[in-house]
Amino acid sequence: MTCHDRRVDTRDPIADLRRIAFLLERAHESTYRVRAFRGAIVALARRDPDEVARLAAAGDLKRLKGVGDVTARCVVESLRGEVPAYLQRLEDEAPEPVDPTTEELLTALRGDCHSHTDASDGGSPLYEMAATARGLGHEYLVVTDHSPRLTVANGLSAQRLRAQLDQIAELNVALGAGFRVLTGIEVDINEDGSLDQDPDLLAELDIVVASVHSKLRMPGQEMTERMLTAVENPLVDVLGHCTGRMVTGNRKRPESQFDADAVFAACAEHGVAVEINSRPERLDPPKRLLRQAVEAGCVFTIDTDAHAPGQLDWLRNGCERAVECEVPADRVLNTWPLEKLLTATRSGG
Ligand SMILES: [Zn+2]
Ligand SMILES: [Zn+2]
Repeated sequence: MTCHDRRVDTRDPIADLRRIAFLLERAHESTYRVRAFRGAIVALARRDPDEVARLAAAGDLKRLKGVGDVTARCVVESLRGEVPAYLQRLEDEAPEPVDPTTEELLTALRGDCHSHTDASDGGSPLYEMAATARGLGHEYLVVTDHSPRLTVANGLSAQRLRAQLDQIAELNVALGAGFRVLTGIEVDINEDGSLDQDPDLLAELDIVVASVHSKLRMPGQEMTERMLTAVENPLVDVLGHCTGRMVTGNRKRPESQFDADAVFAACAEHGVAVEINSRPERLDPPKRLLRQAVEAGCVFTIDTDAHAPGQLDWLRNGCERAVECEVPADRVLNTWPLEKLLTATRSGG
């Protein structure tokens, strides 16, 4: 390693910007607001650190495309060896500590089974999601981008999903032992309960999360049929955010109507995990249904459904609800050793 004496007391500006982006995303800031930081990280990573230091000293950082006033100030402070004021403010807003029981479950989780990259509607590329998941101590991250019919979310065609599988294989080689990106999809459950992707391709994936994203207000009986058809499909491993409700924000909507007894009984019978979705605006299923799924003997996954790296730190939301609804830890698939999880999901339901 080269020794740069004059930089001994400086901080790594890219690491500081990455931490800022992470904290903003964890606080559920819009991708738009975080983009300035993520963009600056990309711009700076392309440059030699000496050049960055020279530009910072000359007050010329903003000549780099992607670096603005706020990000330039952070870099200058960082290079002076100071915690950037912007970062310090965010660190001071740290979330409340979790209670010991929740902490225990959170620690037992080995990975996350539902996440999105910028291939569909996520805000960051695959490698950034993977690096953040590894940094959080996960053993794996399942990448589950959307399926073709969800055009608003830039759902992946079979061809694009195949390209992503190659990209994941390459990334896993680069990442080495100790962490793995698992292949997956969040496949739309079509109105007739069929799945919105080629079955042969679905069969190749490590984890298939199936979710309803359209016609959420269809009559209860039809919705029940639709969900049962999906749950009975041996390709499905996880039933994503089962009620589709939105509890906060400007997209609030009620739960879909369906016969939860029948759907959870089918999940239990076919070994399909009921997802406990940790997104603050979803928190799905509602607690009364979560308790019902526990009663029905279901297994679960606790997922972030992260659309940005910082959102990968939302598992605590799901853990809090799981603890409150007395979900046994050994029925949460992501507490299982990876090989056991993969054996269960590959065995066709
Ligand atoms: Zn979804
Ligand atoms: Zn999702």
